[in-house]
Parts: sequence; C-alpha cells; structure tokens
Amino acid sequence: MSTLEHTAALRGAGLRVTAPRLATLAAAEAHPHADAETLARAVRESLGTVSRQAVYDVLNALSDAGLLRRVSVGGRSMRYELHRHDNHHHLVCRACGRLEDVSCAVGEAPCLHPHEDHGFEVEMADVVYRGLCSTCRAEATETATSTETAGSGAAAAHPTP
Ligand SMILES: [Zn+2]
Ligand SMILES: [Zn+2]
Repeated sequence: MSTLEHTAALRGAGLRVTAPRLATLAAAEAHPHADAETLARAVRESLGTVSRQAVYDVLNALSDAGLLRRVSVGGRSMRYELHRHDNHHHLVCRACGRLEDVSCAVGEAPCLHPHEDHGFEVEMADVVYRGLCSTCRAEATETATSTETAGSGAAAAHPTP
C-alpha cells in the first residue's frame, strides 16, 4: 500500500492524517506481526522525533479504528498487522513465539460457532492455534532421541516373551 492509500484509510476511519500515524501504518506493513517495541523503533527511525509512548498511543488508536489488527500471542504480548478484514487466523509457537498466518477454516466469518452462544449473535471467530513450530519440534526430537539412547539399557530390562 502507498502513503496515498494509508492516507485514504485514515480518512475513511475518521482519523486525522498525521505523520506518526502514516509512519506507523507503513511500519506495520513493512514488519507484519511485529510487536509494539519493534514498530516504535521503526517509526522513530523514519521520523526521529516521536516518543515511544506516542507510537504506543497511535497503535491503540489505529487498532481501535480497525486499521490495525492486534494479535495476542500469550501473556500480555501483542503483535500488530494491517487489518485486511480477511478473517485469517494465527499459528503461534509456544516455545519461540513464531507467528504465522493461516486462512480462515471455512473461508468466511464466522468460521466457528461455539457450542453455547449465550444468546450472542456471533460475527467472527479469532482463532489462535498454539503449539510447537517445525524448528522447535526438530530441536525437541533431537533432545528426546539423545535421552532415549542414554536410557536404552532400561528397554532391555523388559524382554518381550
Ligand atoms: Zn518455535
Ligand atoms: Zn496475521
């Protein structure tokens, strides 16, 4: 997206067009799924003068306006991406924090319905699949294999009939 499109997006959301807001949108586009710290650094690199707190405020304003999407990766840690309203979900590695996009399970919102909706009209489901990424799984397997080799004597203690 160009600065022109970011400008149009801000106007469309009823937000004033400011340099920090434009720089934050550009940073979120350049660094998808970055945390606030990384985005603040990128914005400060391009603008120089803006404070970290100001960038955090912009992140909140843009998220509340639906221009950025916040992704919770566990704990209080948040990552940000441009909100494309494509109803995609996320895979998060519980060991290294790697975050990947995955498409909506059925193609349109809401792709999941709860067993009990308590009278809500469900508009969307925001799914975070958690587990171990391929790199961390490979490491975990290596560790497990070396433990098995070390304990192979124990297996011999239970001979098959
Ligand atoms: Zn991982
Ligand atoms: Zn995403």
